[in-house]
Amino acid sequence: MSDLVITAPFTEDQVRILNKFQHSGFFHPFTCGDEACPRNSAVDDGILVATEKGWECKCGNYTQDWAHSFMVDEYSIDTAEETLNNIKNGNYQGGN
Ligand SMILES: [Zn+2]
Repeated sequence: MSDLVITAPFTEDQVRILNKFQHSGFFHPFTCGDEACPRNSAVDDGILVATEKGWECKCGNYTQDWAHSFMVDEYSIDTAEETLNNIKNGNYQGGN
């Protein structure tokens, strides 16, 4: 099965890595699923915050209890961040 997920409660380490993922630019971050969320006026545009109990939106009206397992793959996040920075700074060396 390719779409592996992890479910809350998350460990302290998973929380740290999930929040790093949310701001890494490595894929689109999870955002609030509440229709009434004041996303555009909220800090971070409704980007969900990971806690040990699961995801929460700062609007207080939305929680989510699962994440993709690749979202806690810190090595991939770190190298993706480095790759994206290299592209941005014109230092990308190519993949081969
Ligand atoms: Zn929200």
